[in-house]
Amino acid sequence: MSKATKKCVGKESFLRMNYLYQLSTLSLKQGQQTASNAYSNLMINISKKSVQRIEPTIKRTICKTCNQLLVPGQTCRVRIKNKTIKYVCTICNAKKSYIARKDYELWCDKKGALVEVLDYSMPAKCIPEEGKEEEREETIPKIIT
Ligand SMILES: [Zn+2]
Repeated sequence: MSKATKKCVGKESFLRMNYLYQLSTLSLKQGQQTASNAYSNLMINISKKSVQRIEPTIKRTICKTCNQLLVPGQTCRVRIKNKTIKYVCTICNAKKSYIARKDYELWCDKKGALVEVLDYSMPAKCIPEEGKEEEREETIPKIIT
């Protein structure tokens, strides 16, 4: 199978989770905490249902207990003690702690973890030029009398 024909497994669920995370962030900025919680909860449910992993950096910004987006100063408290970063959710008081050493890196950030990069960006010839209308096939069904 060539690189051009390879399919991304779970691409639609990744796109949906990305969209829901953006919605969750935006609704929290607008002060709609309940909507933000619902979107992040839905995102986690989609990842569980489709058995897709969420990026660790994104996963760390969501409370495990109440699925609230953790924004320092707004929905969580952040403290650095004994080379660990501790996040405390202000809603459910759940605690998360991570290692804060200089040489520490996640497994997915290491060089050996990246096997292949699939590029799904649209090729330049497929993007229509501005001012130039794209020719389309007639898709409107004709009524036969
Ligand atoms: Zn919480």
